[in-house]
Amino acid sequence: MLITNANVITWEKPNRILENHAVLIEDGVIMALAPQKELVERYPEAERVDAEGQYVMPGNICAHTHFYGAFARGLSIPGSAPQNFLEILQDLWWPLDCSLTPEAVRYSTLVCLVDAIRHGTTTLIDHHASPNSISGSLDLIGDAVDEAGLRAVLCYEVTDRGGEEKARAGISENLRFIERVRREKPAQGRLAANFGLHASLTLSDATLDACRQQAPEGTGFHIHVAEDVADEYDSLEKSGMRVVDRLHKHGILGPNTIAAHAVNIDAHEIELLAQTGTWVTHQPRSNMNNAVGVAPVESFLRAGVRVGLGNDGFLNAMWEEWKAAYLVHKAWNRDPRRMSAALIAEMAIDNNSALASKLFGAQIGSVVPGAQADLIFVDYHPFTPLHPGNLPWHIVFGFHESMITTTIVAGRILMRNRQVLTLDEEAVARRANELAVETWQRYQKSFK
Ligand SMILES: [Zn+2]
Repeated sequence: MLITNANVITWEKPNRILENHAVLIEDGVIMALAPQKELVERYPEAERVDAEGQYVMPGNICAHTHFYGAFARGLSIPGSAPQNFLEILQDLWWPLDCSLTPEAVRYSTLVCLVDAIRHGTTTLIDHHASPNSISGSLDLIGDAVDEAGLRAVLCYEVTDRGGEEKARAGISENLRFIERVRREKPAQGRLAANFGLHASLTLSDATLDACRQQAPEGTGFHIHVAEDVADEYDSLEKSGMRVVDRLHKHGILGPNTIAAHAVNIDAHEIELLAQTGTWVTHQPRSNMNNAVGVAPVESFLRAGVRVGLGNDGFLNAMWEEWKAAYLVHKAWNRDPRRMSAALIAEMAIDNNSALASKLFGAQIGSVVPGAQADLIFVDYHPFTPLHPGNLPWHIVFGFHESMITTTIVAGRILMRNRQVLTLDEEAVARRANELAVETWQRYQKSFK
């Protein structure tokens, strides 16, 4: 496939914007990037995809999400509104994830995947929970990701909140899926796995040790860390240690592990995350919604912690997350100099790309020969000069996901001229609506 008439944003380091270029794709990989005329002459027979002068850039990457949460949209929480993070877990997320049947898991995933294709998010790192449908749940999600044509990293969040048997089932589901990914390389290598853990506050020492002992060599964990200060107080009460220290003691940290949020951690915890090479993900929309505070992301980056950008189940429109990050740090610190757009690009582009590339063992997130052909076309017409140095500010102030017209993953076109090609959007929404009603009924019953 030869993409022609492209203004290519490569997101290399340093970034380049190349006008009137073409991109040659073979077997899902970018083989060449050169001026249009040159590639058209060299590959006259190649099937052409005309970008019509749009910006062609790597698809966005989401470093932390929850497909299982889709049916929360419009759900009514009984009783008075939750007053804090623990009440949000107890009144919303826990009874909701317990209400998911296998088919609800599948459709909750599918609606998120339609949303991801539409909004140009081509790689998603998911964190799944469905305590009444644990076994096989990662296959259901994996099959949906395969059908959609996207790329995803999956895990099941192990927790003690449902008792020993469910904790064991969660461990087994992770182990089974990790082994399957290693053995079969499902979805032509577009699926990867890590080992999911809910959060320190729902995990006993024994369960943490069981996970550490059973996780295969080289497997990283994916866990919520100090999202709310309640996680820290729980850890101090249980172990006399702060959350990051506790996870370090149990061997959970490391260069393949993702610590989501890290909103309420102290200086020594930042040091430990940096020393162990643990990844942190930042989800400002979720943090604002849960009123848990704002992670000291600039301090993390200064300390050498690798921070990526996720969405925690919000719309798979990652530029919305850029905008939230850009604004919230300024408001929180009452200082317009905080959180430059360049720092957001460091998280959302450089670090997310490095994280995805590590987890898949392939180059993801840049337009260079040898990288995976995960691309989006953006119909953006700047009315001020646009160059690599100010691109992050154009994204914050000018880019919008509605400008994404085409989404390509591993060289396959998933959306062309805003038509989703791999999933039947209407059928997915219709069935999801039916399943959401049933899921909400089970959710409401759990309060009686
Ligand atoms: Zn989360």
